[in-house]
Amino acid sequence: MPSVAPVIVWFREDLRLADNPAVAAAAASGAPVICLYIRETGAKGARAPGGAALWWLDKSLKSLARSLEAIGNRLILRTGDPQTVLTEVISETGANAVVWNRRYGEPGRTSDTALKAALKEAGIDVSSFNGRLLMEPWELKTGSGGYYRVFTPFWRAMQAAYVPNPATGAPGRLRDVDASSEDIADWRMHPTAPDWSHGMGEFWTPGEAGARKRLKDFLDGPVNDYAEDRNRPDLDSSSSRLSPHLRYGEIGPAQIWRAVKAGIDAGRIQERPAMVFLSEIAWREFSHVLLHFNPELASKNYNPNFDQMPWRTDAAALRKWQQGMTGYPVVDAGMRQLWHTGWMHNRVRMIVASFLTKHLLLPWQVGEEWFWNTLVDADPAANAASWQWTAGSGADAAPYFRVFNPITQGSKFDETGAYVRRWVPEISNVADKYLHAPFEAPAEVLRRAGVVLGMTYPKPIVDHAAARQRALDAYKQTRQEKGAE
Ligand code: FAD
Repeated sequence: MPSVAPVIVWFREDLRLADNPAVAAAAASGAPVICLYIRETGAKGARAPGGAALWWLDKSLKSLARSLEAIGNRLILRTGDPQTVLTEVISETGANAVVWNRRYGEPGRTSDTALKAALKEAGIDVSSFNGRLLMEPWELKTGSGGYYRVFTPFWRAMQAAYVPNPATGAPGRLRDVDASSEDIADWRMHPTAPDWSHGMGEFWTPGEAGARKRLKDFLDGPVNDYAEDRNRPDLDSSSSRLSPHLRYGEIGPAQIWRAVKAGIDAGRIQERPAMVFLSEIAWREFSHVLLHFNPELASKNYNPNFDQMPWRTDAAALRKWQQGMTGYPVVDAGMRQLWHTGWMHNRVRMIVASFLTKHLLLPWQVGEEWFWNTLVDADPAANAASWQWTAGSGADAAPYFRVFNPITQGSKFDETGAYVRRWVPEISNVADKYLHAPFEAPAEVLRRAGVVLGMTYPKPIVDHAAARQRALDAYKQTRQEKGAE
């Protein structure tokens, strides 16, 4: 055992070395550091990550391990209940302190609180930090002392109150301790038989360096067009694509905030579009506030009036939505982009979520579950809050009776048709005028494009006008009907 008692850094959703408060605290102690990641088992109510998330985690942990090796340390991997694992590592190494960055969903939050108390009771020094959010979810309060339920005043209050901490760089060297580790290959997080992940590999570079590069590339140009372009799924650089990096804490929101503000101050970045971008980072914060105060956000209607909603069950329609075979091109393009890359453009997420909950009248929870399993950025706060937002049951939500028309949404936001042509190649030769509604095209147009509806591309699984009316009728059955018109 080392002569100075080591400190354990318990990594969780903060897989980076720079600007990581737990890492900085451990490095500042001068003690040897045990960098630990626990594949947690045994937590009641814990939600298993989906396949896409595991694919990402596998690469992100490998990247973190490489970064640690470069500074003389090692990532120690263990499996089990965190209390048992930490107790074992403490007794094996003589560590007398544990540091971590806080998490905000359940059951992690409650188990972390209990664990902290138990470790302190055993004489171990425990410190936790905020490494995930700009502000703690409980920090901003409304005039009446509650949490914000409406985004605009939340964002206003946040801009007035938030002061970023000074940046802390990655440690140059981190003395390690001999401790045994499991082999990440044994965790089998990369899919095999079949390996469906090649599209994700082409698209992403998980890890801290990949996150830093994404941010730099975005701030070097595209951010200046963000206010105009952010709704355009046909453009690769219309948004930052930082979401999975943020999800795993390969970059922190404070790093993004500081970089944007520095760019504005130096005159490299235009303030107006940059603030629109930061307001999206604030939506992420807002989602965390909602999750913190509503731990069941992923399963329970935030607005209980929606408990009356006469949702349908329809396994066949759900499968067609999941497979991108609804016959509505922009919906199908989004669902296929998701399957192929583990990510979908925000505008299209709204369109497909609206389609599921309104055109198909299926409960938002089944969509949330599919996204949970297929998104590389699947996030307990943002996914749940955004699904509820689109379904109409959420905080500050889009009203349920605002039913997106997938044809006009497609024509408006994928005006050139490049997005649909990329992801739904079987209709790529359909003339622009009919690309978002091939079922409205004259027979001759389809024939020339080589499309046979019902064979080479599906007919629409629901009629837009009839589905819209069915959704509105269903909505009237909830107690919300009075405010609906
Ligand atoms: P940018 O436009 O560059 O935004 C920057 C960052 O702000 C994002 O990386 C993200 O962290 C945050 N952000 C942006 N929009 C939102 C939003 N509406 N709510 C919360 N945070 C936001 N985002 C997730 O990170 N994980 C999810 O599981 C998730 N599920 C969603 C489900 C639905 C039905 C919808 C409509 C949206 C969902 N979002 C989710 C929000 C949003 O679609 C993604 O964050 C965004 O598309 C990510 O791309 P980007 O990084 O290029 O975003």
